[in-house]
Amino acid sequence: MKTKYDIVVIGTGTAATAAAMRCCKAGKQVAVVDSRPFGGTCALRGCDPKKVLVGAAELFDWNRRMGDHGLCADQAQIDWPQLIEFKRSFIERVPKNSEESFAKRGVATFHGRARFAGPTSIEVGEDVLEAANVVVAAGAKPVDLKIPGAELAVTSELFLELEHLPGRVLFIGGGYISFEFAHIAARAGARVTILHRGQRPLERFDPDLVDRLVIRTRDLGVDGIVTGALTAKGRIAVAETRAFVVAAGGLPVTFHRAFEGFRRRRTIARGTSRLPC
Ligand SMILES: Cc1cc2nc3c(=O)[nH]c(=O)nc-3n(C[C@H](O)[C@H](O)[C@H](O)COP(=O)(O)OP(=O)(O)OC[C@H]3O[C@@H](n4cnc5c(N)ncnc54)[C@H](O)[C@@H]3O)c2cc1C
Repeated sequence: MKTKYDIVVIGTGTAATAAAMRCCKAGKQVAVVDSRPFGGTCALRGCDPKKVLVGAAELFDWNRRMGDHGLCADQAQIDWPQLIEFKRSFIERVPKNSEESFAKRGVATFHGRARFAGPTSIEVGEDVLEAANVVVAAGAKPVDLKIPGAELAVTSELFLELEHLPGRVLFIGGGYISFEFAHIAARAGARVTILHRGQRPLERFDPDLVDRLVIRTRDLGVDGIVTGALTAKGRIAVAETRAFVVAAGGLPVTFHRAFEGFRRRRTIARGTSRLPC
């Protein structure tokens, strides 16, 4: 069916919602489209679910640090499956609430993958949405690692869904997602390694603060923030000798081999950059 709108917004995340609601308030006929459940990354697969886990890790940490200062809770530990279940209870209503909130304001909602059929025409399955203005708020997805074995690593989205936390976890990429997840996993009892290819992790953050964070991260037992580089042949040149890849042979090993060995009992999570969809 062909329908005309003033504005079509692709996506239903934070950016799309702000754009759609403002245009609607200004009296425009608006439609939103999403190929996944409504709500976007932040609410469903990013900030919000992560903050539930961070909250538990923080409480655990407070408890541990108060141990010698009058608080006795020696047995405190994170029950990962229960925590993941708790996290789900926070996000399960998001898609319905998001859709209802659009509908309440008169924004038309479409489910499916949006595709430009012309400069002012968007196809969503059988529907064709005509609009003089199209807002692309399609978000980002993890970069393709382009190395053999990359398919064996889980993304941040899947990490947030792990039913059981493995005993060892390797995070590829030293950005904020890896660091936050590494702190959560370490406090939940996993042995954690972060592999970063640059000279310093968290490159876009204040270096003084990052230095302090790196010290705290190591104090926490994160195996070593390894400065390693992925070469075209999928090799890791490891500049520091505390990573599992070195332990696996003392020489740089291929990612594929490293992945296979690690994967048997452990998890590798991709915390590398994200690219626009
Ligand atoms: C693990 C993690 C933790 C994060 N933590 C934080 C944090 O603590 N603080 C913070 O500020 N930011 C955080 N972020 C970043 C934040 O989530 C994003 O910046 C934000 O969600 C981007 O919103 P958006 O609206 O641009 O895109 P998104 O929320 O990604 O929405 C885009 C939507 O477009 C849809 N879409 C894409 N292509 C199409 C298509 N062709 N047709 C139809 N639909 C399509 C997608 O399904 C998606 O629902 C985190 C991200 C991750 C992954």
